[in-house]
Amino acid sequence: MDQSKNSFPRTIDSKKAAEGNYDVIIIGAGIAGSILAHELGKKKKRVLIIEAGAGNDFSPAGFRAYLETFYSAVSKDNQAPFNVNPNAPVPRSPDVKALRPGEPNTDAYWVQNGPFVSDSTYSRLIGGTTIHWEAKAIRMLPEDFRMLDIHKVGLNWPIEYKDLEPYYRMAEREIGVSGDVASQKRLGAEFSENYVYPMHEMPPSYLDQVVDKGLSGMKVKLDGTDYDINLATFPQGRNGIPNKEYKPWNYDPTKDYQPVGSVSLHQEDQGERCQGNTNCVPICPVQAKYDARKTLVKALNEKCNGEYCIDLLCQAVASQVIVDPGSSKVKAIEIKVYKDPNDPDHDTVNVKGHVFILATNAVENARLMLASGLPGTSKLIGKNLMDHPYLLNWALLPESAGLFNGPVVTSGICNLRRGSFRRYQAAFAADIHNDGWGWATGSPVSDLVNCVDNLNKFGTGLRNQMFNQISRQLLLAYMIEMLPEESNRVTVDPRFRDALGNLRPVVSYNIPDYSMKAAEYARQLSKQIFQRLGAEDHTAYDLLDYGHVNYNGDGYSIRGGNHLSGTHIMGTNKTNSVVNSHQKSWDHTNLYLVGAGSMPTIGTSNTTLTLSALCFRTAEAVYNDLK
Ligand SMILES: Cc1cc2nc3c(=O)[nH]c(=O)nc-3n(C[C@H](O)[C@H](O)[C@H](O)COP(=O)(O)OP(=O)(O)OC[C@H]3O[C@@H](n4cnc5c(N)ncnc54)[C@H](O)[C@@H]3O)c2cc1C
Ligand code: SF4
Repeated sequence: MDQSKNSFPRTIDSKKAAEGNYDVIIIGAGIAGSILAHELGKKKKRVLIIEAGAGNDFSPAGFRAYLETFYSAVSKDNQAPFNVNPNAPVPRSPDVKALRPGEPNTDAYWVQNGPFVSDSTYSRLIGGTTIHWEAKAIRMLPEDFRMLDIHKVGLNWPIEYKDLEPYYRMAEREIGVSGDVASQKRLGAEFSENYVYPMHEMPPSYLDQVVDKGLSGMKVKLDGTDYDINLATFPQGRNGIPNKEYKPWNYDPTKDYQPVGSVSLHQEDQGERCQGNTNCVPICPVQAKYDARKTLVKALNEKCNGEYCIDLLCQAVASQVIVDPGSSKVKAIEIKVYKDPNDPDHDTVNVKGHVFILATNAVENARLMLASGLPGTSKLIGKNLMDHPYLLNWALLPESAGLFNGPVVTSGICNLRRGSFRRYQAAFAADIHNDGWGWATGSPVSDLVNCVDNLNKFGTGLRNQMFNQISRQLLLAYMIEMLPEESNRVTVDPRFRDALGNLRPVVSYNIPDYSMKAAEYARQLSKQIFQRLGAEDHTAYDLLDYGHVNYNGDGYSIRGGNHLSGTHIMGTNKTNSVVNSHQKSWDHTNLYLVGAGSMPTIGTSNTTLTLSALCFRTAEAVYNDLK
């Protein structure tokens, strides 16, 4: 990458932002905000993006600083590369690790009302949470959009899969997805004719091949139907080998698809290919993994009449949505602009435009609306909070399976993502982790401590023991569907504020029995899988673990899936939903709430590809409004 060409951050100051004449104000420079900004910039609309994180991070030096912070961090939790910013705080997993099940958590950013304590997180950084996402980019299945009609549980979407399909293609191009259409079709996804992903699938790891071979011929019966237990690769937002067959809608026959490069102003560098060093979460050192800065940089390069169309104001935290009294329009958004993350001193300004878009993620969008005293006609803002509960099962394989090769996950067991059993039990997909037991037990550090302190190993003996232990680790991570329930919710409480005086989210959350039934099933399935592979089951759930849940007399440790969603669901009218199918507020004619918060159900797909597809669709609606 030619770093001399990077002149970012090209940001403006609060005075210019307050005086600007903008068509659109977007709050949040994550993937949702960046897609909308880019699409509107391409159509010559004047856009101001307000971002809570620091602008300095948006440079090669800023990215290197993330890496240095990560390398030197003692705890490699998934926020480890990113310094604590009290002015734009986030939930961090170390905050909950010491808690007991159901223990209130008023000191951390999220005040957790229980009964379940979630360790889900997100980032308030330029580029948002995609900086440290894992980058699985999976389409939802057609039946996921019609859960109430088909399975008599959950909610229907106001649109169907076929309405979103063209926008899935746009999102896959934007993210640069590597994947295999044939295997996704076998799992129930539908594609347009002759479609291929921009890049070939990430090849299954050696571990995947060992597991797939061991499971050969395995079947289970569920609700009277036989399901194969075998592996399929996951589509991924990371650079693989471009597929020469890929022909997007704006196909240029003179050019093959170019993987998205590392972030530079000129975007002329081909993207680095994935090097398979399994560090994807929390940060990809070579930027082979997509993150939203790659879209943002394109947006910031768009020009209207020779001038840049899009302005970016960083270190600016939206604190209030201000509605014009007596009208259904938003008049302005109040912003607190700070100079130093460690100093609460700030200026308060109002920014104005014709259309306002909240793209701060499911929890923060709801928090901002509720903090502004805008619960909405439906009173559904903040309610129906969803996430994917994860159940981890771990075992030692009889022989080395060569771990730590490839991205964190390349394949999974995905055949139980759909079926008639969904009328009483959640669907799931199970990831096969290429990074061993890290998520479950803190390996390899925990193994090292055990080898040195308990087994008294050192030198060659230590190396051999570590290799023997780690290269045989198998972790199955079941990502379980969760349905909307109004009692799972985000609220605010004037007693709980952050350094800038903004209200913090108060989260009340329970894992529904519908999901726990699937967790119980997954535990039994794992035992069968381990037996078939000749693997020694080491799964153990600690009663005192913060995420411990009792179900049918057994205990399970549940982990947060980081797919926060459902807090401003879309629907068919202003009493059953917060936004319409274009993510436009029913109550405010110039306000959009975008992102996974708009999703009425989440199926078994990580949410980002779907929320990105929704944002491409919303960009058209916003453009039409402006016309
Ligand atoms: C560890 C981890 C792994 C994940 N893996 C996957 C995966 O494999 N696949 C997948 O699909 N998804 C995954 N996700 C989820 C994914 O990262 C999110 O779905 C996605 O990033 C959400 O995008 P967004 O733009 O809606 O919100 P965000 O990415 O959260 O962006 C919101 C932006 O708004 C800014 N902001 C917030 N509040 C304010 C405010 N008040 N004022 C101004 N700016 C504000 C933030 O700084 C941020 O830039 C993962 C998440 C985590 C944490
Ligand atoms: S495996 Fe390594 S190179 Fe590939 S996306 Fe993950 S961190 Fe980046």
